[in-house]
This record gives sequence, C-alpha cells and structure tokens, in this order.
Amino acid sequence: MIALSATEAPAAKPQRPAATNTCRVCAPLGAVLAFRGIRGCVPLVHGSQGCATYIRRYLISHFREPMDVASTSFSESTTVFGGKSNLTEAIANLASQYRPEVIGVCTTCLAETIGEDTPGMLRDIARDASAPKTLFVATPSFKGCQHRGFHDTVAAVLAQTAQGGDRLRQINLLAGPVSPADLRHLREVVDQLGLPTILFPDYSDTLDGPSLAEYTPIPAGGVGLEQLARAGRSACTIQLGAVLDPGPGQVLLDRCQVPLKRLGLPIGIGATDAVFDALAEEAGTPLPDRLLAERGRLIDAYVDGHKYFAQKRVAVVGDPDLAAALCGFCAEIGLAPALVATGAATGGRLSAALTGLGIKGAEVLDDTDHDLIAGRLAALKPDLILGPSKSYPSARALGIPLVRVGFPIHDRIGAGRVLHLGYRGTQRLFDEIANTLLAHNQDTSEIGYAYQ
Ligand code: SF4
Repeated sequence: MIALSATEAPAAKPQRPAATNTCRVCAPLGAVLAFRGIRGCVPLVHGSQGCATYIRRYLISHFREPMDVASTSFSESTTVFGGKSNLTEAIANLASQYRPEVIGVCTTCLAETIGEDTPGMLRDIARDASAPKTLFVATPSFKGCQHRGFHDTVAAVLAQTAQGGDRLRQINLLAGPVSPADLRHLREVVDQLGLPTILFPDYSDTLDGPSLAEYTPIPAGGVGLEQLARAGRSACTIQLGAVLDPGPGQVLLDRCQVPLKRLGLPIGIGATDAVFDALAEEAGTPLPDRLLAERGRLIDAYVDGHKYFAQKRVAVVGDPDLAAALCGFCAEIGLAPALVATGAATGGRLSAALTGLGIKGAEVLDDTDHDLIAGRLAALKPDLILGPSKSYPSARALGIPLVRVGFPIHDRIGAGRVLHLGYRGTQRLFDEIANTLLAHNQDTSEIGYAYQ
C-alpha cells in the first residue's frame, strides 16, 4: 500500500435546491435487481407506472436482457383512496400470466408518501389460499438510492425466508450489487473449494442468459426459496462491502445466530486474499493451484506494468462499496485516488472505509451529483476516471480517459460480463487501466508514436 498525499482540500458541499444530472438511481431499482436473483420471482413495483418504466429502461440498457417489471399503476384516484385494489388485481394477473414461485413487491416514493400499509394489504391478500407467495420491501427513494434499495431487499427477503435450526456445512455469501460475471466467478471459486454456498442474490443467469428460440417470461436461474430457508442454518455469512453498516447479514445474525464476517469487495491482491482466504478457511482446504496461479500472474503483471501508473491520479465514481474497493486496488498499484464520488448518502462511512484502507488525501464527495463531480474533476485534473457511463460527458469535455466500471454502463456492450472481482477481475481491470493510459498518451502525443 503506498502512502498518498493530499491533493487539495475537500470542497465544502454547496447548498443547492436540486441535484443536477444525478449520480444515483432509485431505491426500487435496487430492489428489482435483488428480486431477479431469486428463482421464479417476478418483481412488482407498487406505485406509478412511470417508476417501473424508468427502472426497466435503466436495467435493460445496462444488461441488454428482457426485463419484465410489473406495476400496480397508481392513478390520481389510487393516490387519494389507496392502492389495495390495484395491488390485489396486479398479484392476480401476475399469478395467472407468469405462474411465478414468488412475487417480489417493492414500494415507490408515492406509495410510501401516501402512507400505504402495503404489508397489511399483502397479509389480507394472502388469506386467499390460492394467492401466490409474496415477499415485501419498502423502498422509497427518499430513504436512499439503488444501493440502499438493493441491500434493504436482501435483508427483507432473508428476514421473511430464513429459518434457524441445526447448523449445516454451508455458508452464505452476500456479494452485493456486482455484475453477473462477478457472481459467476464467485460461484466458480466456492465450487473449486468444494464449499456449499448460498450466493444471494444470484442473477448471473437471469440477467446474462443465452439466446432462446422462444420468449421465457421468467428466465431460469436464481436462488430457490428452499435455499433461502436454509440460510438461517449456515455456518457463517460472508458479506462483501466495506461501506455497509451493518448490512443484510446482520438479519441472519440477529434472527438465526449465523456468525457474520464483513469484508470488502475482493478487488486487488490484498482484498482478494482476505476474501478467498476466508472462503478457504470455511472450506477447510487451501486455495487450489488454479487460483494461486492467477494470483501469481497478477503479481507478475503488477511488476511489468507498475511504471505506467507512476505519479498518476485517478477519480473513482460509483456505488460506495465498489468505489472503496477500487480505491484500495488503485492504491495497491500506485495509482493515487484524488477524488472519490458516490451518489449514495453514506453518512461518512465511505470516508471511514477509505481511511481503513490507508488512503489519505483523496477528496470524497458523498451524496453528490455529476454536476458537482464535473466541477471537481475540472479542478483536480486527474489522469483517469473509473466510473459508469454517466461519467462520460465529463471525461469527454475534460479530455480525461474513462474506464467504465459499475452501474450503469449503457454506452458500451457487455456490462453484465465486466468482471471486477478476484485475481482474475483485478487482472482484467489492471490491463484495461494500463492500456487506457497508454492509448491516451499515444492519442494526445504531439510527436506521435512508433515502435522501432
Ligand atoms: S418517483 Fe421515486 S420510485 Fe419512482 S422513479 Fe422517481 S425516485 Fe424512483
């Protein structure tokens, strides 16, 4: 880990009447994403149709997969008199058209603002024995963004499904809102270790599936309800995300006494060592040679490429757990974080996580928007931005190269296949960052470039 010096004093957060070009999307989007990691689940957004459309549009442009998100379609009269009849009808329609194993119900700002007793309505609906099973989470966006909505949904689902009992030889792995490629890689690692694992939520197949001859209303994949019921009997929960406090794993600790290990996302050698060693310890076996070989190749790449990062400064934009993990990785390779920005309101936890990673001097923008980020980018002039597609206008205007990570990535193809985690994901990021810096040097060089 290198020691980093301050670049500039952090700017005071300006008082402004509204966000401009937000750096966050809404909480029910996080809920829908988490629900897609449950087998046979259809998400139902209780509120206005526009909310579901917005969520669908964002998720489709990122994952490029069919995305059915149902809505209870609030109208003016629903807003005044309540949405119980809409909710009842929507659940009946979904049951007949999709035949889901479960319906994941989340609320919007409007439903929560008018004080809908959605859990009470769902209890009434469940009195009909033929009604499908539902899971519920309250996700008004005035409580938080997609990051909060995702983790609140994971916690709510575990609270409604997990049962205690005799311990089983298995663990729970709560990976957070990572990419389908990341989830597939984590599954591969625990399989190599022979460690039975409930990886939740798991949308690696439902949001990155094969092309099918016929439209499938509910794509195959996800964690089954019977697996979620057993999550309360696991030997431990490993929860990834350095900024989470306490995070959804706390539910299993409180309700079922499942011990909780909290670790950062495995990006970089140090962070990956910590997560993979914890998994190996639970498995009672050393890391397999294949993973150790990936680690060795990554160290070799660090040796080969470290010179390209000398005296370079980076801005990191994204979900707080991803941003913290990327900063830890950047510091490990000698790329100094100058600006770290997230749309989530972390209450100082992002700054604390960065301090815990030994990162000093980086300016942190918490609960921010892209307008403010653009201003700080112009002032700080980093050499590189790691962030989502929404960082592109700033990157283009300022001539700073952008490596796309996180969510949303809607101006490139293959967002679901962007691997961030493990030695392999770190290797991919390392190569892409180094090559992006090299390409930028070539493209902007006044004397051109030729290999003699
Ligand atoms: S009203 Fe709330 S829930 Fe609906 S799209 Fe806007 S932020 Fe999201």
